[in-house]
Amino acid sequence: MKIANFSIKQYDKESLLKANEQFGHELTFFDTRLDRHTTALTQGFEGVSVFVNDDVCAECIAQLAEGGTRIICTRSAGFNQINLEAAEEHGVTVARVPAYSPNAVSEFTVGLILTLGRKIHRAYNRVRENNFELDGLQGFEIKGRTIAVLGTGRIGAEVIKNLSGFGPHILAYDPYRNPEIEDLVEYIDDVQEIISQADIISLHMPLTPETYHIIGPETIPHIKEGAMIVNTSRGALIDTAAVIEALKDGKIGSMAIDVYEEEGDIFFQDLSDRVVRDDVFSRLLTLPNVLVTGHQAFLTDRALLKIAVVTLQNFSEFEGSGFVATAVTQKGTRGG
Ligand code: NAD
Repeated sequence: MKIANFSIKQYDKESLLKANEQFGHELTFFDTRLDRHTTALTQGFEGVSVFVNDDVCAECIAQLAEGGTRIICTRSAGFNQINLEAAEEHGVTVARVPAYSPNAVSEFTVGLILTLGRKIHRAYNRVRENNFELDGLQGFEIKGRTIAVLGTGRIGAEVIKNLSGFGPHILAYDPYRNPEIEDLVEYIDDVQEIISQADIISLHMPLTPETYHIIGPETIPHIKEGAMIVNTSRGALIDTAAVIEALKDGKIGSMAIDVYEEEGDIFFQDLSDRVVRDDVFSRLLTLPNVLVTGHQAFLTDRALLKIAVVTLQNFSEFEGSGFVATAVTQKGTRGG
């Protein structure tokens, strides 16, 4: 199949080319994002692959369908950047990579908790300047602490399994209980209750209208004083401006994020010689109790290859039978 791949970095290209040795698709790579301004590039491509910060809006999908595109595969688990209603309307199949390496994100999440909790990021900077002063580097131990995991799907479950070794008390919140980890956690069905008890709150639910700004003005007052917030899921789960105020007055003790609600214009590029025109983000970076990484939790060798293989397999399945096992919409019908 002729496939146009958007938001391509060198590491994506390498893994897609390697995986394509077993599929034989005709791949074209674009480093630009796919949005309504770049849709013209897809003319004549039956397949299109995108990543998390492409903006596959309704207008974009209408143009894609008109230009001959029949399937969009996102090289990610989340698919909130794609307008599914428009895809259904235009009979465009949307598929994804449901579980390329939940452990990659889980291990990174644990790394963020340890780094922020033990102030390793600050120690790293000090030591590089021959400053071996320990004042201000006091941390806390996970053993015996209460951790709330919101969303116990593939990644949340791995986080629970990984963190269990440290000996915390783990609370979980999810409309669907996961039998895989049920004996490691105490499920609590009320968000306010769970966040009022937790020393660390880790977010692993998808971005939906129900989860949008789940950490925001309505929930922040219920958070336990001084708690740590960790978000490796989707940026808009957190109302950043509201959290900054809570970080400043100590209501929230610290925050580690790998995702940011307005990350589309910032992440995945080198802006080191430019001014970032996002005052909320810039303010966030000035806070000593905040750790930010640029959506890299997925970025391991194993995960990249799995993403490439499943993405290309999605296109092959569509080409073969029209049925794609990982489809979110199947030729105009919303799937699982
Ligand atoms: P998943 O679908 O396996 O699990 C999501 C879980 O969230 C499910 O158990 C679901 O029932 C639960 N959920 C849905 N609505 C909820 C709600 N309102 N409250 C509580 N729980 C709710 O997904 P996953 O593979 O575990 O991925 C989780 C998220 O991680 C993805 O949506 C994606 O946005 C994000 N992600 C981030 C990176 C990264 O590099 N930072 C990489 C992969 C995935």
